Amino acid sequence: MNSFKDELDKLVLESSLDVQGLRDSAWKDTYERDIKIFEEIAKDSVAKFRPMIYNLSREDMFRDNIMRGARTKELSFEGKLPHADSENYGTFAFAMNALFPISVHHGMYETIIKVLGSDEQVKEVWDDIVAYKNIGCYAQTEVGHGSDVQGLQTEAIYDEATEEFIINSPSVKAYKFWPGDLGKMANHAVVFAKLIIKGEAYGIHGFLIRIRDSETHSPLKGVEIGDIGPKYGYACKDNGYMAFNNIRVPRSAILSRYVSVTKEGMIELKGDPRIGYATMLWIRVQLLSFGWLVKFVSLAHCARYALKRTQFKSVPGSDIERPIFDYQATQKQLVSVTCYAYANLTISQYCMDMFYKMMEKIKNEDFKMMNDLHVLISALKAYWMDYDMMALHSLRELQGGHGYLLLGNISLHIEGWSPNVTLEGDGYVLYQQTAKKLVKKIKDITKGKSVNKDFYPYMEQVFSVKDSTESDSDIRDTHKLLEVLRVALSHELLQLAEALAKQDHHSFDTKWNTVFQVEIANLAKLHAVYMSGLSLAARVPTLSKDKFTQQVMTKVCNVFVTEEILKLAQTALLKGYVNAEQMVGIHEYHTELVESLKPHVVALIESQIIHEALVPGTTLSGQDSDYAGKLYEMATLNPLNSTHKMPNVDLKLKLLSKKLSNFAKI
Ligand SMILES: Cc1cc2nc3c(=O)[nH]c(=O)nc-3n(C[C@H](O)[C@H](O)[C@H](O)COP(=O)(O)OP(=O)(O)OC[C@H]3O[C@@H](n4cnc5c(N)ncnc54)[C@H](O)[C@@H]3O)c2cc1C
Repeated sequence: MNSFKDELDKLVLESSLDVQGLRDSAWKDTYERDIKIFEEIAKDSVAKFRPMIYNLSREDMFRDNIMRGARTKELSFEGKLPHADSENYGTFAFAMNALFPISVHHGMYETIIKVLGSDEQVKEVWDDIVAYKNIGCYAQTEVGHGSDVQGLQTEAIYDEATEEFIINSPSVKAYKFWPGDLGKMANHAVVFAKLIIKGEAYGIHGFLIRIRDSETHSPLKGVEIGDIGPKYGYACKDNGYMAFNNIRVPRSAILSRYVSVTKEGMIELKGDPRIGYATMLWIRVQLLSFGWLVKFVSLAHCARYALKRTQFKSVPGSDIERPIFDYQATQKQLVSVTCYAYANLTISQYCMDMFYKMMEKIKNEDFKMMNDLHVLISALKAYWMDYDMMALHSLRELQGGHGYLLLGNISLHIEGWSPNVTLEGDGYVLYQQTAKKLVKKIKDITKGKSVNKDFYPYMEQVFSVKDSTESDSDIRDTHKLLEVLRVALSHELLQLAEALAKQDHHSFDTKWNTVFQVEIANLAKLHAVYMSGLSLAARVPTLSKDKFTQQVMTKVCNVFVTEEILKLAQTALLKGYVNAEQMVGIHEYHTELVESLKPHVVALIESQIIHEALVPGTTLSGQDSDYAGKLYEMATLNPLNSTHKMPNVDLKLKLLSKKLSNFAKI
């Protein structure tokens, strides 16, 4: 009998897609590096994923995770792995099927120091950072404020007499709360605090501070630190709290590439201090990049399980049970999320390219791209993180009851991914940042200013939407479909700009926060959708050279766009962007597209599973077709099954039973 792997390979082959081409386009120049990380970690007995980890307590899980991370460092020193850093720690996490330990140190602490630190500051700490002598966290959020960064209350008061800053938490609301790697691991922190000089506040700035003793690892005098406790997901991450009681740090602690304080207490600004946002941009671009992979990995788990799992003898004239993969509802879900994963892939690559371009320009003191990239990435981060949670939950449903087992891995991804909706910027708050700038662009255009087409490709035609509204009843072409989204986006933008500018009894702030907030979020969401659709459409010819694969990828793109138009149906019909006949046509076309992509969905998913470590051989999705036997085997290994009687519980029940028997006699 053929193995399950043979069955998968056969399905991939039968689809005739250029799997290698799609894979190369997705993984690009990191392919070799990432494969090495997957291979080495999968074969190392300490670092590799072991399903029994789920049976550990949070404390043991945390310890185990650190040991696994430390092992990867040893492998790096043995030359078997590249060193984990801010660029690749995500691949390590996928290879380990866990959060990479001290990921905030790599992702945020390293990055913020490189971005905001002066050359001398970076030089002074870098060797220790790489050697893990200096492990740091990114301490921004406080008990009282997260989204509103300007509302942070930790103070950094400059003392001219001693040339020091006094770092203080004036109330419990000012205590740092949530920073990852703070609770147990970090001995340093970049602390964001309100700079106060001679009684005057100068905004929020980053200060590089030692927080724990280098020998004892105890918090320094005047610093209180702890772990915030169990959370939903992130079990092996030590998100922490931290309070400061007037500790003194030298004047050189302020990260000073763009801002410094002279001995006399004069503040000096160089370049654009908003560059601090570059770290957030970087993390958000990374979240977009991990997002497409999380979806492909979850899809692989589900599609593989759906091929093995059978329910109901529903094949006419046959006594065989039907694989759940064959049910239309299952296939629709798999096809839909797969198409979205490709849209996420191409837009994240676009953003990554733009980010590197921006950083190059910043080296030459050109900060112009930062604002536009921030506008784009804010909406994308909000939209895609929100979509991901909905998609991952729907994939869990495809695994039925077994999907709830952490061994099934989907639940693990849901837990692990869920905080991303909130961390690095809550969706509603980010949507508003995008919408505010879009409305401003309208004003710029009316004043004759030009806009950057890389970020606002529809903006220059925004006033001519009425003429371009689609009149065909049969809209089946990518360009025409995108045109529907463009018209909708332009209408929404113009209407909102008009409503906000109108002189009436509401102030701008009232309109913004209480009257139009839902429209504001919808506008920014539409911007994210249009840019994602546009990026996938533009990339179809380059994802593979093979003509047939390009035809299939056009359909993939059209599924994404039609599905988004269908979500808009109510508004679109009410506001007249499309008529009912067009909407019916789009709906029919969407159904046809999904049907025609069914034979390719396994290949589209598997092309991005570059190593089995991404889909570790857990019970439901491993290479073995006997998922039932594996499930049973794993259940028997669960430590709760090591005894039949649990000593204390047993005794307690016996005593209780005795009492209850007496009670019954009364
Ligand atoms: C797992 C995890 C890890 C984290 N790691 C770190 C870290 O390493 N370092 C760090 O500094 N922080 C970290 N954080 C904190 C995180 O960045 C904040 O929680 C996040 O920015 C949201 O801020 P908040 O908690 O203040 O939410 P709030 O702003 O209080 O949001 C609560 C609700 O209010 C709504 N809301 C708020 N303002 C508005 C508005 N103007 N309009 C409409 N609605 C609004 C939001 O949409 C949300 O629904 C982490 C958080 C989590 C969950």
